[in-house]
Amino acid sequence: MAPRVTYRRRLSYNTRSNRTRVVKTPGGNLNLQYEKKPATAPRCGDCGDKLAGVIALRPREYAQVSKTKKTVSRAYGGSRCSHCVRNRIVRAFLIEEQKIVKKVLKSQAEKK
Ligand SMILES: [Zn+2]
Repeated sequence: MAPRVTYRRRLSYNTRSNRTRVVKTPGGNLNLQYEKKPATAPRCGDCGDKLAGVIALRPREYAQVSKTKKTVSRAYGGSRCSHCVRNRIVRAFLIEEQKIVKKVLKSQAEKK
């Protein structure tokens, strides 16, 4: 026979925040335990991949863990993934190089 247990709190709807599981207590009774909502891993703001080195927690739990668990020591660490940061650096470098090339070409044209 399936165990019959009732909610222990006043919320009586089968919602996402009212998830429970049945446990057997040491005394042999069946009890309901409330489950926390699953945590989602932080993702890169550019490509949407999960960020390596940053733990997945529920929002309020981030206030209770140290900063090293929430970031990686790199520019844009904890916000953008390593590949996207690399692309940004390369892109910025190439744009700067392009500016220098334009400047040089302009000065050579003025000499002639
Ligand atoms: Zn990315």
